[in-house]
Amino acid sequence: MPALVELHVRYRLQTAYAIHGDSEHSSHVDRSVERGPDGWPLIPASSWRGRVRAQLESLLRALNVPVCYPPAPANTCPHDAAVLRRLRPYGRWFCPVCDLFGSAWHPSRVQFDDLVHLHRPRGTIAVAERVSVSINRSTGSAEEQHLTSFEAAGGDEALHTLTGRVRGYLEPVQVGLLVTALRLPTHFGAEKARGLGLIGTLEIETTQRTHPWSSPAVVDEKTVESWVEQALEEVTRLAAPAAV
Ligand SMILES: [Zn+2]
Repeated sequence: MPALVELHVRYRLQTAYAIHGDSEHSSHVDRSVERGPDGWPLIPASSWRGRVRAQLESLLRALNVPVCYPPAPANTCPHDAAVLRRLRPYGRWFCPVCDLFGSAWHPSRVQFDDLVHLHRPRGTIAVAERVSVSINRSTGSAEEQHLTSFEAAGGDEALHTLTGRVRGYLEPVQVGLLVTALRLPTHFGAEKARGLGLIGTLEIETTQRTHPWSSPAVVDEKTVESWVEQALEEVTRLAAPAAV
């Protein structure tokens, strides 16, 4: 039976991170980080969700599970003919990723919040300016005219914990797939090559309510792990050729 499920997620980053956006907080750098209304940096819900979705797509493709290729509508469920051909024997119109995250023709079952810093001491903002240098490939020397400045977020190690929430009205097996997806990213944001945004540890607390007016109850980890296993069993069944 589906329930109103909330996943309270904490990522502890090993390094600073940089989600560059359009925010105008510091116009003197070439690329500034995304920030919230209080000036603190954050990972916008759309970036978090996008990364988690993309990682789940890669994992399922590697397992030979039929998954479409968004965002082009012709390659997105239910219009990707090759994917649809493999899903129909199972009575499905949408691949497991669209089923959870939605497509233009299927509403998303999950809603992501922004990932924000757990500790935000007053009077500080965890942003530092960095400079990067382009190296001329033929001469191997730095090109002065190619110095660019960018912001990185994260600050002291004590401030490296980001927290956010994902909600949905979900079946246990869908929670299992969502938890699997949330565990996949190894980094957030740009500048991965510079060692930014590396994810260290992840904690997820799952709560659920069977009625909108009931109070949320914590789901124990063993139960969540059994949902994860169920989810993997269900999606990998799609990878096998359908019985005729
Ligand atoms: Zn799809």
